[in-house]
Amino acid sequence: MSILPNIFVAMGILVGATSLVAAWQIRREGDDRAAGRMLGLAPWLTAPWLVAGLVAAPWATWLGVVLLTALGILLLLVLPPWGRSAPAPDPGGPACLDERDTMFSRAEISPGSDRFDAYYDRRPASREPDDAWRERPGLLSPDAALHDPIQFGAAEATFETVTALHPLVEGEPAAERRELDPAAASRFLTHWARKLGARDARVTELRPHHCYTVGGRGDRYDEPVDLDHGWALALTVEMDKEAVDHAPAGPVVMESAQQYLASGAIAVQLAILIRRLGWRARAHIDGNYQVCCPLVARDAGLGEIGRMGLLMTPDLGPRVRLAVVTCDLPLAASARRGDATVADFCRLCEKCADVCPSAAIPRGEAVEVDGVRRWQIDQVACFGLWCEVGTDCARCVQSCPYSHSDSWLHRPVRWLIGRSRPARWLALRADDLVYGRRPASREVADWRRTG
Ligand code: SF4
Ligand code: SF4
Repeated sequence: MSILPNIFVAMGILVGATSLVAAWQIRREGDDRAAGRMLGLAPWLTAPWLVAGLVAAPWATWLGVVLLTALGILLLLVLPPWGRSAPAPDPGGPACLDERDTMFSRAEISPGSDRFDAYYDRRPASREPDDAWRERPGLLSPDAALHDPIQFGAAEATFETVTALHPLVEGEPAAERRELDPAAASRFLTHWARKLGARDARVTELRPHHCYTVGGRGDRYDEPVDLDHGWALALTVEMDKEAVDHAPAGPVVMESAQQYLASGAIAVQLAILIRRLGWRARAHIDGNYQVCCPLVARDAGLGEIGRMGLLMTPDLGPRVRLAVVTCDLPLAASARRGDATVADFCRLCEKCADVCPSAAIPRGEAVEVDGVRRWQIDQVACFGLWCEVGTDCARCVQSCPYSHSDSWLHRPVRWLIGRSRPARWLALRADDLVYGRRPASREVADWRRTG
């Protein structure tokens, strides 16, 4: 007697059980709609195997053989490392990063002030688009479309707490200097950062393209940046998935603020520690940067820069916040990853460009900007949307396939898309099928509402 029918039935049970467990896990991760879709797919994935195994007819056996062959071809496509490329070459960075060009700096200059006039004399093309978002209510404004008094109030309270850390970002080092082995110092600081709550922490040499050339915030405005530290430790903290899934509603700006605080507190704590060892150190935290954190983090090997212009980490994608500590304590650089598969996935994906309400994220290939090949988002359009809704939106972060939970369900997919181009293509199709091409925002949880 042929064992083929038994194999087909066993495959049916395996596929059915896997689909049901996947649906259960997706529901646990909080996406009821995607869980429902997965549940709806289960009978379609299971039935052909069961028919092939349970119907005693030659055509049913042939159906089973076709299914087995298709499965074999699929495994051959996704398992071997087709498309696992060599590390991407070091992309470097722009020759000149002027903090006064960032949207937060532009938002700080008051119309009619000397700074305002000087800025738009220098950048006349920015005047008209900037005037357009200045007419909108503004980030965390009571008149913004998504204003909620307690959610916006919670975010403002957290940003105020971050500002309270600013006086601690710099300071005088202790008079007595402790000499440390660079590798041991790096190992201690990166492990300690993780113990303090960082998701990951790595070290790079501080390079000229990491640093702003001129300050653009507060009393650092117009001040040349002269950061002569040799080393930088970059760290990430995870943004809560449930909060990000509410994007663009208020919980997302609460979460951004909270993780700026968490990352900032760790960076300040590390900087103080290094200064107590007698070395100069500066924390770079929200509202008080002298470096561009995503570039430092990329060069330290924490991830790659994706289509939406944010750092894409291997296990949480862009669902992180960053902080950096620079210092002259000699450290040992972590290996740069240079994972070219992230850019390849972004080339196929374009999901963030599809969901972006302000059409700020470019489609198509990366282009050369300031000597670096990358995707450049329209920061004026993005910030204009923030000024309309009052939050930092984050629909792009919410919808990115890399932002899924770091769970047993998504880890094998991340592993496969890191080694095989066909797997990247298939994973994207599956993501569209289960989560949707434009994943819906999650209903704001009751505990976050007061009205
Ligand atoms: S949504 Fe897609 S294209 Fe956009 S950053 Fe994420 S992976 Fe890249
Ligand atoms: S934050 Fe919102 S507006 Fe800005 S790029 Fe992302 S999706 Fe677009």
